[in-house]
Amino acid sequence: MSFDLETFLSFIQMYAKRLEELQEVLNILDNRIGDGDHGTNMVRGFNFAVRQLHEQPPSDLGSACNTVAMALLAHVGGASGPLYGTVFMKLAGIFQQQTEVDKVTWIKAMEAAKAGIVQRGKAKFGDKTMLDVWEPAVAYLLGAHSGTQHETHSEIQSESQREEACEEWVQEVEVAVLATRDRIAKKGRAAYLGPRSQGTCDPGSVSSGLFFELLSYVYNGGGELIPWETRVL
Ligand code: ADP
Ligand code: MG
Repeated sequence: MSFDLETFLSFIQMYAKRLEELQEVLNILDNRIGDGDHGTNMVRGFNFAVRQLHEQPPSDLGSACNTVAMALLAHVGGASGPLYGTVFMKLAGIFQQQTEVDKVTWIKAMEAAKAGIVQRGKAKFGDKTMLDVWEPAVAYLLGAHSGTQHETHSEIQSESQREEACEEWVQEVEVAVLATRDRIAKKGRAAYLGPRSQGTCDPGSVSSGLFFELLSYVYNGGGELIPWETRVL
């Protein structure tokens, strides 16, 4: 597997579009347990990032991630702005000056991004935040990777095996998103509601679910997208 600049740019574009499609769903969820702006925040930030990438085409993955990080830090706002901003800053740190990265580097970058969320937000798994999705999503990558320790084995991983692994990953992500519904929020705005935060999926977990779903989608060159609105509302 390799992940290149072109794939990254189409990922950002498609993620921005998918966020726009689901903006209202994210706002509704945030309205139930927060202040109703998560969809609006994310769409504003990622649309700005897409414009910046278009106006100043990046020469490598590191600078592309930096551009996205700056756009999100300046334009998403709320709690999620600095958190998603940190994700892309960490990715930029690992991807510096590279136009294409291999699977090992890519997994390392996702791990660094997750660590950045923990460092910045101080949440633990189970606190009903986006970390509830990032934690198992990255753990799956690490597990799946260590399962194919033998380089030759992973090199000859067939197209169908790769697609299967991606599908399984997205299914795990979906389960992780839906599992936030019954949890009591311990961090962020929803924590003020205490037990009344139960019964609603965490909006940041849903936008993170979309993030992983779209990564898998661009990597595989398509596939079926999850009808999130019927799952999470
Ligand atoms: P705000 O809550 O400031 O209005 P958003 O609505 O854009 O910001 O984002 C809310 C999301 O941010 C939550 O659904 C949750 O997933 C995430 N979040 C909030 N606080 C934290 C935290 N400390 N650590 C990780 N994620 C958090
Ligand atoms: Mg909000």
